[in-house]
Amino acid sequence: MEIEDCQSEGFATRIITTQFGRKDAHGAISLPVYRNAAFEFETAEAIADAFQNKVTAHTYTRISNPSVEMLERKIKSASGAETVMSVASGMAAISNTFMTIAYAGCNIVTSPHLFGNTFSLFKFTLAEFGVEVRFVDTDNLDEIESALDENTCAFFCELITNPHMEVADLPEISKILKAKNIPMIVDSTIVPWCSFNARKAGADIELVSSTKYISGGATSVGGAILDYGTFDWSKNKKLSKLSSVDGNQRFTFKLRREIARNFGACMDSETASLQSLGMETLQIRFEHMAASAYELAQFLSENEKVVKVGYTKLNSSPYKTVSDKLFVGNPGAMLTFCLATKEDCYHFMNKLQIIRRATNLFDNKTLIIHPESTIYGTFTQEMKEVMGIEDNLLRLSVGLENVEDLKKDILQALGK
Ligand SMILES: *Cc1c(COP(=O)(O)O)cnc(C)c1O
Repeated sequence: MEIEDCQSEGFATRIITTQFGRKDAHGAISLPVYRNAAFEFETAEAIADAFQNKVTAHTYTRISNPSVEMLERKIKSASGAETVMSVASGMAAISNTFMTIAYAGCNIVTSPHLFGNTFSLFKFTLAEFGVEVRFVDTDNLDEIESALDENTCAFFCELITNPHMEVADLPEISKILKAKNIPMIVDSTIVPWCSFNARKAGADIELVSSTKYISGGATSVGGAILDYGTFDWSKNKKLSKLSSVDGNQRFTFKLRREIARNFGACMDSETASLQSLGMETLQIRFEHMAASAYELAQFLSENEKVVKVGYTKLNSSPYKTVSDKLFVGNPGAMLTFCLATKEDCYHFMNKLQIIRRATNLFDNKTLIIHPESTIYGTFTQEMKEVMGIEDNLLRLSVGLENVEDLKKDILQALGK
């Protein structure tokens, strides 16, 4: 199972054979961890050239680091993005991106069904800086189109919303955005590149929490910002001011040279090394987890105690057609399901023996959470309603255990 693209080698091969570009002094087969803050130069002229960007060289780890560069190269090989920047977390990827493109008086058009901190960033944090967020129903193309204007700095959405399990029709939305010269920014954390091709779907900038699939078993927190080089920033009157380089590179230039340095949420080299290793097993882990997720989604659908199951490949999902169009194979390792009441959810969770009660997604371990009382637990009732958070819903992130054992655990916890 391989996503079709112009690259000749398979997904896993491309990641595993990614070269660093410079020979290691000892021929180490994996790049050592560069656990240092600064890099020295032979002469005053050489360090000046590095600082003035006349040569590409690492100077200081907040700005760049060889271990982080290696991870960025692997993500580039995997995704086909033109440039990749790894940062301290998924939220750092999202906040650095919007600090790069947003300005006082601009607006962001998005769905209210967002990861909790992303919602809070848009609604509260950025609002203080004069940035408006316009919530739309991403199923309604007319509503999206009428929310866009000359001050829209981006259309943003998550690939499969969590916990609502909605999929926006990105290729159709992309047509509307292209006509108006507005960039499409997609948080694709939920489905990795071996199943989802962001460029083909019309995304210009892709954001990922590498804490999830990439970290290789929840080893570390990280994020990535991918620029496909598909958006000509010079064609949008307001966004053309980002920087003065070639039209398609203006975002990355400002992000790398100004925003990321000023905010300082750099990825740590130890994390980069762990996540580079995680990248090498990404496809094999994803395919196993996602196959189990589909099997469990079908299994749960057949149980009379389960009121509703959210998984976009199920025939019962209103997003099946668009999901089949966007994803190769199984659409991710996350599913949701509803029991009759919140009390039933708590009772079920407390009886689980293999499945662990924890937040996070795409660990090797299967994880369950009750979103309404945890992730959204401090939100007001009104906010929960805006965000459409139900109190009888559970979210499952399916791991690498044998699926038969997960089924047994679910059955015993559901009880007679
Ligand atoms: C986890 C997650 C984030 C935030 O990532 P962190 O690495 O925890 O900062 C953002 N978006 C989505 C969809 C996520 O699942």
